[in-house]
Amino acid sequence: MSEVNVLKDLLKGIASLRGIKPEVKVSVVIDFPEGRFNEGVLNELVSKGYVKAKLVDRIVICPKCGSASVLTKYVCPKCLSIDVVKSRLIQHLACGYTGSELSFLRDGNTIICPKCGKKITEESNELKTFTTFFECNACHHKTSSPSIIHVCYDCGAVFRPIDAVYKAIYMYELSEEGVKLISK
Ligand SMILES: [Zn+2]
Ligand SMILES: [Zn+2]
Ligand SMILES: [Zn+2]
Repeated sequence: MSEVNVLKDLLKGIASLRGIKPEVKVSVVIDFPEGRFNEGVLNELVSKGYVKAKLVDRIVICPKCGSASVLTKYVCPKCLSIDVVKSRLIQHLACGYTGSELSFLRDGNTIICPKCGKKITEESNELKTFTTFFECNACHHKTSSPSIIHVCYDCGAVFRPIDAVYKAIYMYELSEEGVKLISK
């Protein structure tokens, strides 16, 4: 196929699907070995004293449907937009301009100072980098700690950490009493 035909083929594919929208997929499952072991059975053995539980992990669970397939996102603490980008505070040493990395214009590999208009190459050591922060594209609020939201992949619920179920995951081992019982 010629280059033009390859291009046409790609564009036809996009047109026939009415745009390409990637799907973000998550699948988190709490998997117990063998069919006969589950939380109910194991917790009962713990309460009887034959098994002891040791904390190994904690995971976020959807408060609406109980799914563990949950995505975590950063949002702007001021306007709640998900369109927050990581940026750095940069100073152009020659003219003293200090501002967000996003305020510097780009022309390929060259960066252009928004104040003095000078072209700066990466190797020139004319830039000083300060802190990294998040900047909201919607309201331009800057923060080092964005708010956190969770989105359930299974039911679509959007919830804050304070509303999440933060489930403990335990490892189960025989207690002394359990060992005694099987060696009888
Ligand atoms: Zn400058
Ligand atoms: Zn915002
Ligand atoms: Zn859910």
